[in-house]
Amino acid sequence: MAKIKQRSDVSCRLCKRARDQCSASTGNLPEDTYGHINSAFCDGMATTVTAAHRVIWRRLYASIQAAHTPTSILRFVTPDKESSMSTLWQEEEFKQICSRESLTEEAANIGKTMIVKEHERARYDFDPTMFYANRFWNRSPDDIVINKNHRTLYILEFKQSSDRN
Ligand SMILES: [Zn+2]
Repeated sequence: MAKIKQRSDVSCRLCKRARDQCSASTGNLPEDTYGHINSAFCDGMATTVTAAHRVIWRRLYASIQAAHTPTSILRFVTPDKESSMSTLWQEEEFKQICSRESLTEEAANIGKTMIVKEHERARYDFDPTMFYANRFWNRSPDDIVINKNHRTLYILEFKQSSDRN
């Protein structure tokens, strides 16, 4: 609406309403763009967007598994709900495919391309390298596929921190 000059105030009304409801500050509201309101970054849409994402992912994963044949070299692993990358990497099977050190290094390279959220800022400023490592190792994968022949491990999806409640 702001882009086509239908509104002079470009701040997100959904975020404002959500923050008003929990008496949070309505300063620094994000811009009300199509991309924003369709993302989990919008306070007013986060629950809905996350729920839709979860349903679509479960169906997609069920289809992937249904296509899996007994002769397939892929092995599907669904870790416990509480398993973090760190706990999984205590297992020999994972370590043999990729060492903890190599994975930490690679995760930092990818982590640098991701947004540092406001509530993470202090930890990031204190030690960026440690921040990227901790953020990665504390994440919980939804599903993992292992191809032992090619020594490849696919992390299909990470849980959102809000999914773990
Ligand atoms: Zn919003």
